[in-house]
Amino acid sequence: MYEHDVIVVGAGGAGLRAAIAAHEAGADVAMVTKLHPVRSHTGAAEGGINAALREGDDWELHAYDTMKGSDYLGDAPAIETLAKDAPEDTITLEHWGMPFSREDDGTVSQRPFGGLSFPRTTYAGAETGHHLLHVLYEQVVKRGIQVYDEWFVMNLAVTDEPDPNDRTCHGVVAYDVQSGKIEGFKATNGVIIATGGPGQAFDHTTNAVSCTGDGQAMAYRAGVPLEDMEFVQFHPTTLPSTGVLISEGVRGEGGILYNEDGERFMFEHGYANNDGELASRDVVSRAELTEVNEGRGVEDEYVHLDMRHLGAERILDRLENILHLAEDFEGVDGLVEPMPVKPGQHYEMGGIETDENGETCIDGLYAAGECACVSVHGANRLGGNALPELVVFGKRAGYHAAGADLGEAAIETGYSEDVEDETNPDLPVTPGEAGLEPAGGAVAADGSGQVLDEADVLERAVEAERARTERLMEREDGVKHADVRAKLQRAMTRDVNVFREAEGLKRALREIRECRELYQEVAVQDPSRTFNTDLQMTYETRNLIDIAETIALGALVRNEFRGAHWRLENQVRDDENWLKHTLISWNGGKPSIWYRPVILEGEAKTYEPKVRSY
Ligand SMILES: Cc1cc2nc3c(=O)[nH]c(=O)nc-3n(C[C@H](O)[C@H](O)[C@H](O)COP(=O)(O)OP(=O)(O)OC[C@H]3O[C@@H](n4cnc5c(N)ncnc54)[C@H](O)[C@@H]3O)c2cc1C
Repeated sequence: MYEHDVIVVGAGGAGLRAAIAAHEAGADVAMVTKLHPVRSHTGAAEGGINAALREGDDWELHAYDTMKGSDYLGDAPAIETLAKDAPEDTITLEHWGMPFSREDDGTVSQRPFGGLSFPRTTYAGAETGHHLLHVLYEQVVKRGIQVYDEWFVMNLAVTDEPDPNDRTCHGVVAYDVQSGKIEGFKATNGVIIATGGPGQAFDHTTNAVSCTGDGQAMAYRAGVPLEDMEFVQFHPTTLPSTGVLISEGVRGEGGILYNEDGERFMFEHGYANNDGELASRDVVSRAELTEVNEGRGVEDEYVHLDMRHLGAERILDRLENILHLAEDFEGVDGLVEPMPVKPGQHYEMGGIETDENGETCIDGLYAAGECACVSVHGANRLGGNALPELVVFGKRAGYHAAGADLGEAAIETGYSEDVEDETNPDLPVTPGEAGLEPAGGAVAADGSGQVLDEADVLERAVEAERARTERLMEREDGVKHADVRAKLQRAMTRDVNVFREAEGLKRALREIRECRELYQEVAVQDPSRTFNTDLQMTYETRNLIDIAETIALGALVRNEFRGAHWRLENQVRDDENWLKHTLISWNGGKPSIWYRPVILEGEAKTYEPKVRSY
């Protein structure tokens, strides 16, 4: 067993920033990560990080844009914290060596991004995330923070009191990819989940194969509600054959979208008469698919993104990486021809419910980054707002887990007993696989009534994971995890996409639940105990099933059109009934749904919902 004050699970931008903060606050901190830190998916971030740095801009404008972009589903205290802290936290990155692009006078460059009223996206070429990871990792190395890389975290060691609000997290159980051993990591102060998004629930995604929602699924099964999972961002400019992202930076620099008839459809078809290509992502994605559905798509599948008019010098200076991506993955030279693009899954707005200090309803359990929902993005994230979220809330979670006093959080978290179960009665509900409940227990399972201590809770969780792994490895014949995953991805991409309707969502839910049934028979084909990617992906597929179910269920229940969530049956934003967060709790494998009001009251003003036009 390993032991540290704070265990950070995941070493992308959020995890690295959290670890640095926890270390600064005096904790003995360790990171446990399935990838080496600089291979984390943050490295794929291209366009930039939003922060009000310049004269003429201020945090209040940033907060307003973010609230409007969220379609009034973000919580004002969290949004204001993001906007206020982003400048200082971005400058800290600069001081740590972040090579931000610069103007001729030496000032840091900022570019326009969708939905922003001021060009406040600070960038390092089109490789912002890559540099961010390296800069943060350098700080981790400098501080001597212990990193256990290629350790896959399988579960949390959480007590199992009936009310999740009474539970405590004492550590994690992890599988060492190199040796195959399964060990416990005890956290005396806290565990911070920073495991990124669940993009692999879809088959056309900008997300890496590592984005499997592991942390969200673990927290969910341990009793933390997942918030607003139905809000999935589909980015309007992904390469059709692979899902590789073409950054919004291209449109920020002046790139133009055309349909097959050569029309600049964002204006000519009235989708966004003011901002055109720089409307927010949900608006542009729907516009593109409408063009395709109405017969004006290129090859009935995509539209064109043209940046040739920017000139080779500017493209090479600011967007060189985009040229390589278009050439390598689509065989297109962006200097001489337009690039084919279509919407693809990109970002999960929802996640593990936290307050502004990263705390969940379980004592000692925190979350930060894309896996969390503090709620700054609401129904639609603005481009460039994820990276500041990583550093602002990663830092806060790190400080708080290490015991620093950040004051009371304005956002409350917590499992509600007042559950409004709207699971559709037409749909079969399959309880969770036996043995998938929170693995630790407050009281011994032998009926003696003996209260377990932290080490026992962790040990019991380790034993449960070892037994689960043996079951998976021993099964001779069975279903391949890849077949289950492919079925799940197909259902999600077909029915839980940009345009959604009740029948499709029910069909997706039925198929997700069939995947759950199939998973009971899953068998690991590779018998080796070292570097067994078959085994690791089998663990991950189970997480994807749980996450996909929350996305589809949330989407079915929310019968309105808000931000990225469009519903055929009710194509208007319904503030009277739906100005509220969806929370889904695991509830022994039978998801229960409940709601919490959105907080529109900020520090000095209330954000009144308005019609969102660009
Ligand atoms: C192509 C692309 C471009 C983007 N561009 C931008 C941009 O320009 N600006 C912007 O603001 N946002 C952008 N985003 C969004 C943003 O980059 C991500 O939301 C963000 O980087 C996620 O960071 P994270 O730290 O939460 O997770 P990640 O960077 O995904 O890191 C997750 C970490 O968790 C670890 N992990 C996961 N599961 C386990 C497990 N079971 N056990 C142990 N470790 C685990 C991984 O090893 C990894 O270290 C982009 C996203 C994509 C996909």
